[in-house]
Amino acid sequence: MPHSSQAQPPSGAPSSKGEDTPVSAIPAPAPAPLNVVYCGVCTFPPEYCEFGSHMTRCKAWLGENHSDLYVRYYSQDALTSKVGTLSLEAQTKLEKDTAKKEAKADAKADAEAKKRQVTIKRIERTKRKHVTSIHGLEAFGVDLKKAAKLFAQRFATGSSVTKNAQGIEEVVVQGDVRGNGVLKDVPGSNVVLVEEKKKKTAGEE
Ligand SMILES: [Zn+2]
Repeated sequence: MPHSSQAQPPSGAPSSKGEDTPVSAIPAPAPAPLNVVYCGVCTFPPEYCEFGSHMTRCKAWLGENHSDLYVRYYSQDALTSKVGTLSLEAQTKLEKDTAKKEAKADAKADAEAKKRQVTIKRIERTKRKHVTSIHGLEAFGVDLKKAAKLFAQRFATGSSVTKNAQGIEEVVVQGDVRGNGVLKDVPGSNVVLVEEKKKKTAGEE
């Protein structure tokens, strides 16, 4: 074969040697992949955080995780060059709008977080007998039937999926299992502990 073994690094432009040079043999080297940073709070690239609703948190996140970018977008110089052209009124309005937007987003996030809440309720059946109802697990992607089975095994007690008074399914475990680390995968801040005393009118179930 008349091919000369070329010792050229593949990064150079392929020296065209006419038709017998396979054109597609050496693909043009791809540019080194850019290490694109996405904001850990709003998921936009950091230069777009200001258009999101979480600027304050975005800013804190960037400062913690990418101090170089933080300097680029939030240093005094960067800010001055950016808002320097705005009038003082415009700046104040911008800040106000941002604060408003953030407050709104925070309220929404709060409401959302509340929805994802597990309620562990100890219900008194008799003086010494309790059951524990665990409500809201499905919001965490938990299969209630499996959970009931798991609780039964773990606490060596009865456990089942039952509809509560509102017609919503929850797991009910016999006995008081609240302190047993029932929900190690649900953040503590999402768990509410409730105690329900026996009502005078409640009869046997
Ligand atoms: Zn962001």
